[in-house]
Amino acid sequence: MKRILGRRLSQLATSFSNGSCVKPLLKMPSFDYTPLPYDGPTAGEILKKRSEFLSPSFFHFYKKPLNIVEGKMQYLFDEEGRRYLDAFAGIATVCCGHCHPEITEAIISQTKKLQHSTVLYLNHAIADFAEALASKLPGDLKVVFFTNSGTEANELAIMIARLYTGCHDIISIRNAYHGNASGTMGSTAQKNWKFNVIQSGVHHAQNPDPYRGVFGSEGEKYARDVQEIIEFGTSGQVAAFIAEAIQGVGGIVELAPGYLPAVYKTIKEAGGLFIADEVQSGFARSGSHFWGFQAHGVTPDIVTMAKGIGNGIPLGAVVTTPEIARVLTRRNYFNTFGGNPVCTAGGLAVLRVLEKERLQQNAFVVGSYLKDGLKLLQEKHDIIGDVRGRGFMLGVELVTDRQLKTPANAEILNVMELLKDMGVLVGKGGFYGNVFRITPPLCFSKEDADYFLEVMDIALSKL
Ligand code: PMP
Repeated sequence: MKRILGRRLSQLATSFSNGSCVKPLLKMPSFDYTPLPYDGPTAGEILKKRSEFLSPSFFHFYKKPLNIVEGKMQYLFDEEGRRYLDAFAGIATVCCGHCHPEITEAIISQTKKLQHSTVLYLNHAIADFAEALASKLPGDLKVVFFTNSGTEANELAIMIARLYTGCHDIISIRNAYHGNASGTMGSTAQKNWKFNVIQSGVHHAQNPDPYRGVFGSEGEKYARDVQEIIEFGTSGQVAAFIAEAIQGVGGIVELAPGYLPAVYKTIKEAGGLFIADEVQSGFARSGSHFWGFQAHGVTPDIVTMAKGIGNGIPLGAVVTTPEIARVLTRRNYFNTFGGNPVCTAGGLAVLRVLEKERLQQNAFVVGSYLKDGLKLLQEKHDIIGDVRGRGFMLGVELVTDRQLKTPANAEILNVMELLKDMGVLVGKGGFYGNVFRITPPLCFSKEDADYFLEVMDIALSKL
């Protein structure tokens, strides 16, 4: 691969430096679909309404925001029928691909039969999905609570941990994102997303970031900070430690190896629970494993999930052990729509499709191929400071100085625009906002990866 890709990249570099290359050498992989004619409002009209009637905190990608009107598998179409390769929406929503026919059909067919609240009557959809989901988790993790979002799932997980342990203190990691309601905002410590509202009993531990962290990849050294927080910042007992195995919003940061097992031991000694936030890294995305935490050899007490679980419909879940789950019987616990028949029918179809289309294997094979290609680009372009992640959860950090790791904030915006102009959409994040988040739907193909790499090479060469 190195040879083939290397040759292609050098061809590209030559044609580009000649000034002859305004378009990638390869065309976007062919895709047999013609978008429907669009006669709705224009991008400008929508933007105007949005500014007037929606939250002033809304933001958008690109100087001229895209009006996306259709999605099919790993592709999106704008109002003019132009096709884009979507290298981000896998995280934002769709793990199996936009409008996947089998999942869409499951949702529509359940909608035509029944939509209702969750607990009052029996319905097979919620029970079938809970059973299937539990079968994907290790150990005694077999009781499922459904929610409507990742925030709600983490709120519930934190509440359960507090009730179960009788303690209040929560430890999370700096640069983490866990949600936007009061408890989860407490645990969130991502610079750009953190609102500093009342958040009692939450402590943020040093981030075991192999690229920027002081101890590099020595996970056990970072874990000492958790021990110190417990000794000096709490009564010696904690409710829970919550972490993403691969920080998503934080810029695709894989926790340094050895960190989670060491913290797990410390947390257990302090009577706490380990909550794994799998909202981004779950559902086969990391390729090597179905859940991100599995790469670290630890089994959490509570696992939370959302986003990809429903392939675009609002759905989240908390999975825990029967013993821990019992704390919610102390009062009535009820979530009006969490686990409703329509969403759980969709969720069950997602698990079926992941299996049938061998999407975890695809994430592993194509994701590794893509990562190798990005590493080659790193050899060629000094601006790439780091390439990291696994499967289809990859990060490319841009820096203007490799030694100082100075965030390339202006440059990343320029590259993003160029990528979009060549038909590739990618996400952005990280503590400094200088990391490309490459998290496509899991059906992203090797041809898509080739196209992505070529376009990225051209865009970086233009800087
Ligand atoms: N946890 C993680 C790791 C997330 O990335 C997010 C969303 N970005 C959430 C929780 C919150 O999920 P939601 O937006 O569905 O509330």
